[in-house]
Amino acid sequence: MKRFFTAILLMAALQAGAQNTKVVAHRGYWDTQDNAQNSITALKAAQEIPVYGSEFDVNMTADGVLVVSHGPKLEEIPDVQKATYDQVKRVRLKNGEKVPTLRKFLKEGRKGDIKLIFELKVHPAGEIEDEAVRKSVHMIKRMKLEDQTEFISFSLEACRQFARLMPGAMVQYLNGKIPPKELKKMGIMGLDYHHSNFTRHPEWVKEAHDLGMIVNVWTVNKEELMQKMIDLGVDFITTDAPETALKLIDKSK
Ligand code: MG
Repeated sequence: MKRFFTAILLMAALQAGAQNTKVVAHRGYWDTQDNAQNSITALKAAQEIPVYGSEFDVNMTADGVLVVSHGPKLEEIPDVQKATYDQVKRVRLKNGEKVPTLRKFLKEGRKGDIKLIFELKVHPAGEIEDEAVRKSVHMIKRMKLEDQTEFISFSLEACRQFARLMPGAMVQYLNGKIPPKELKKMGIMGLDYHHSNFTRHPEWVKEAHDLGMIVNVWTVNKEELMQKMIDLGVDFITTDAPETALKLIDKSK
């Protein structure tokens, strides 16, 4: 009898997970023809499929320009944070596109309705990172993108700053070492952890949900692992293979 109820509960949990999991395209939907990671083309491709959002990386150049690029290396530039914008704008991505400035990227993002999952890369702690956060928030507010943007970062301090400067914004911490309860105490309402953290701590998903927090997982590209995360009931799967994830979620419903 006990086993029967366990099976029912498990099925209910699986279904809840299956129905709720949404997909985030990692660095845009870049795995198509004439495309490149963190490009405007990748953002537009993500806008064409039913994903929840498109993730992108933001770095600030040495002269204070926010650009969409993973870094630190950017083609022939060894460290995008130490380069000037003048150097960055001469670089061409794999598909021939220029490196987008954040402003240009957001303008394109505003045309679609998917969420913009803004990853601020780690900058030197203190003044430089504070400036990167401040400029990011200023631009998001000026472009009235508060409701369409969510923030993620490996920098705990940057997450705290985003949460402080934009009350109500979804902020997710990326470095999976902190239990949900501890994050919440810092005012950070989301965790976006590497999948291995949820294999080690599957209980963190429920713990986070019970605390009213959001769970995202990166970067899940294999079907088997996607299914495992769907079954765990994560809210979002960040992936380089968004169409595979979408199909799998559909099938699990
Ligand atoms: Mg990223």
